[in-house]
Amino acid sequence: MKLIVLGPPGTGKGTISRFIEAKFGCEHISTGDLLRNEVAIKTSIGKKIRYILNKGKLVSNEIAMQVLSKKICSLKDGFVLDGFPRNIEQARLFDELLIKQKISLDLVLEVDSDDKVVIERLSSRRQCVNCKRIYGHHVPSKKVGVCDDCGSKTIIREDDKPKAIKQRLKIYHETTKPLVDFYSNKKLLLKINGNRTLEKIFPQIEKIFKKVV
Ligand code: ADP
Ligand code: ZN
Repeated sequence: MKLIVLGPPGTGKGTISRFIEAKFGCEHISTGDLLRNEVAIKTSIGKKIRYILNKGKLVSNEIAMQVLSKKICSLKDGFVLDGFPRNIEQARLFDELLIKQKISLDLVLEVDSDDKVVIERLSSRRQCVNCKRIYGHHVPSKKVGVCDDCGSKTIIREDDKPKAIKQRLKIYHETTKPLVDFYSNKKLLLKINGNRTLEKIFPQIEKIFKKVV
């Protein structure tokens, strides 16, 4: 199964993608994590994009494609893409890459959430510095500031601070949201309500997968 999870920041795309990975064996690819990793290990790309990431702006399409294609080309089975594509241009470039690699997409899952819900969630979100697991309002770690899975520190991301959240939402509506029509025209889009808790969302996703697979 090869799919894209589309939706505003803070809608649980990461957690939903990890669920799909665990349950259905598609590899979770988060361009946000790939980019943050470049920053963490201080590659030349990482040095260029650190400031952009912290402000909540998008990195260039060239850089996004670069980190993504490296990853996609090394995959054998399915994948679940989280945070990519982020604009129409990336979606077109991605189409070309898929054709070249003889890969076909099965599904684009739109997780639709209201801005109010998104802002509330992002402001209470923490991420493990090591395994990147996300904790939030509804799924806090057992001990504050410590990851349940690996015991490392959990932190509030620079781009989850209020000013950056506003910026990311603005970009989402202006730049990413048009992808809904783009994939809808390709008959790949399926929309679910992301305002609900994950306990409600997970069973629905399982049902959807049983139908599509
Ligand atoms: P969220 O979806 O919650 O905003 P991500 O972890 O997906 O968080 O992305 C974090 C940041 O990484 C984005 O704000 C942006 O700066 C950068 N980024 C991630 N994916 C892309 C992409 N496809 N194109 C450009 N920038 C990206
Ligand atoms: Zn961890």
